[in-house]
Amino acid sequence: MTVLPDGRVVIAGTGIAGATAAETLRKEGFTGSVVVVGDDPSLPYRRPMVSKELLSGAAAADKALLRPADFWSGRDIDLRAGTSVRAIDVAAARVECGDGTELPYDALILATGGRPRRLDALFADGHCLRHMHDVAPLRTALERGAAGGAASLVIVGGGLVGMEVAASARALGADVTVLEAGERILERVLPEPVSAAYERLHRDRGVAVHTGVRLAGADDAAGRTRVRVTDGREWIADAVVVAVGMTPNDESAERAGLAVADGIVVDEFCATSASGVYAAGDVARFPNRILGGTERVEHWNHAQAHGAAAARSVLGAATPYEEVPWCWTTQFGRTLQISGWPGAGAEVIVHGDPGDGDFLALCLTDDRLVGALGAGRPREVRAARSLIGDGPFVPRELLRRDDVDLVEMAATPERFGARPIAESHRNAVT
Ligand SMILES: Cc1cc2nc3c(=O)[nH]c(=O)nc-3n(C[C@H](O)[C@H](O)[C@H](O)COP(=O)(O)OP(=O)(O)OC[C@H]3O[C@@H](n4cnc5c(N)ncnc54)[C@H](O)[C@@H]3O)c2cc1C
Repeated sequence: MTVLPDGRVVIAGTGIAGATAAETLRKEGFTGSVVVVGDDPSLPYRRPMVSKELLSGAAAADKALLRPADFWSGRDIDLRAGTSVRAIDVAAARVECGDGTELPYDALILATGGRPRRLDALFADGHCLRHMHDVAPLRTALERGAAGGAASLVIVGGGLVGMEVAASARALGADVTVLEAGERILERVLPEPVSAAYERLHRDRGVAVHTGVRLAGADDAAGRTRVRVTDGREWIADAVVVAVGMTPNDESAERAGLAVADGIVVDEFCATSASGVYAAGDVARFPNRILGGTERVEHWNHAQAHGAAAARSVLGAATPYEEVPWCWTTQFGRTLQISGWPGAGAEVIVHGDPGDGDFLALCLTDDRLVGALGAGRPREVRAARSLIGDGPFVPRELLRRDDVDLVEMAATPERFGARPIAESHRNAVT
């Protein structure tokens, strides 16, 4: 689709996908109207800081802003923070906002992200961390708890957000307990040797980690929360954080008749099933052009690149989106970089010691590199990402060698005997 220079693009969501889409429209020379409608009252900010610097107090809220306030007005981007897109009328090409305003559009980009899954039946007062405004109530509860000694925090869910919250709360001096239903923490994102090292790191820093637990109930214990699990153990907490994943905000798209399947379904150009309507970021389910199938990715860099791709599609670019995802997590000052799809790997080759903050783990399936993780090895993770994207078969005996040079291999894969992948095998992993 090409929007005319005096057309209007409406963007729902002021997260990184929506903000980048708006910025990209201007960067690419679009001179028409750009309206970004977001239900978060804040200006666009760096969401990854919520569970790290903002919770631990290492940075103030203004440091998390993506851009200064005048950035948006200076580019004639009409940013309406604190208002939602309530309904979409695709036949009339118009959205209705929460404040009653109606906005006709020539193109609409849905970048509405997701919301935390809650366990309200158990923890009506449980905290979730997604927005900047979620930080203050949790800090207040921890400060109140600390008045009688160390505050006690129970975190339900040992995924990325849960474990980052654990590390930040330890920095605040809280007693932290993580209750994870799976057999290991970070199971969805990390292969076993790496998640085991992160579990040791947390235990060494005083976090009590319990895996394989089943919640039985929760009740009031003199103003605090008693959390019970099915084997009879219980913990008394000043605050409970529920970190059990997110649900995509795709309901208004579904009500408008767009194809939705755990996220808004888009093609490789971010186009939804409705003409002139695009979706990007955490909320979008898109084709995985490297491994096959479709996926939703919940990473900052993906949301940024996908938002930019949606904007370019709106302006008529015909470049399919085929970024290899990569993300990072920082816990106890240790940053881990993850690229590709480690979970798709049947075999893991580890160089170095995941326990000492300097290692590289390569995930393979059928002699094909599909994921890489590393700490202290940014160049190698970047090189692995390009090998994953190019999709060559890489001799695994070379990848096992201690002196493997991934940077060289990515630059000249043929010199290392990497065979280009046949088109017929390209999408054969998932
Ligand atoms: C605590 C936390 C820490 C994280 N840390 C990392 C990290 O270290 N590394 C990493 O790679 N990723 C991290 N992530 C993931 C990353 O932040 C997300 O993938 C990314 O922010 C998604 O961006 P988005 O714009 O697609 O969606 P979102 O950031 O969810 O933004 C969508 C926005 O749209 C708004 N919205 C929803 N419905 C409507 C509507 N109807 N109308 C208007 N507005 C609406 C939402 O309120 C929200 O403001 C973290 C996520 C969280 C929650």
